[in-house]
Amino acid sequence: MVLLFFAIGLIFGSFYNVLIWRIPRGESIVFPSSHCPGCGHTLKARELIPVLSYVLQRGRCRCCSMRISWQYPIIELTTAVGFALYASREVSLPALVSKLLFFSLLLVASTIDLEHKILPNAITIPGIMIGAVLAFLGWSVPIGASLLGLISCAGFLLVLALATKGMGMGDVKFAGLIGVFIGPLPALGSIFIASLAGTVFGLIYLLITRQGRNTPIPFGPFLALGALFSAEFFL
Ligand SMILES: [Zn+2]
Repeated sequence: MVLLFFAIGLIFGSFYNVLIWRIPRGESIVFPSSHCPGCGHTLKARELIPVLSYVLQRGRCRCCSMRISWQYPIIELTTAVGFALYASREVSLPALVSKLLFFSLLLVASTIDLEHKILPNAITIPGIMIGAVLAFLGWSVPIGASLLGLISCAGFLLVLALATKGMGMGDVKFAGLIGVFIGPLPALGSIFIASLAGTVFGLIYLLITRQGRNTPIPFGPFLALGALFSAEFFL
């Protein structure tokens, strides 16, 4: 069971790489088929095997030898390990599906935020709807808690975004997504953890790199880590 979900995770991870590359660039996620961004060479089946292709090709395109980012195998492995871990502990299939969707949305959104400093609507808005449907079906938290989570978290970050310059509307919707999946208290807990971790990391980062205080540091990855942490301990 765990091995099966590890394998499924590798395949989903490879699809998440497509989303992470294409969504912020406004490209279609189904067409054209995967190709090298350097030479346009369309990838063949043996170049699309998660992790293995990357290792066998030593991280380069087979056609033009352009370097392939190590982010590809990392995302594939992270997804696989995440899927395997959740599958090893969750007994009911609906709860497992709900957790895997939540984990996947957090992973894709926060990787895009790290690279592009945006949390795209193409992920946060469908994500909020998926979370509401799951709660409605009884696959995650009760629907009342889900809606309260959405309103309280998005509302709280909206106030923060209006009062400070560090946050944007993407963060507001992303917090709403977390709230709709795990309910108000765990989600507010994750915002608290994220703020703490983000502040400590930000101070260290600015000290080491000696950049100005206005250097933007994406908040999405901290929110995602905080959410995974609180979903484990407060749900
Ligand atoms: Zn190439």
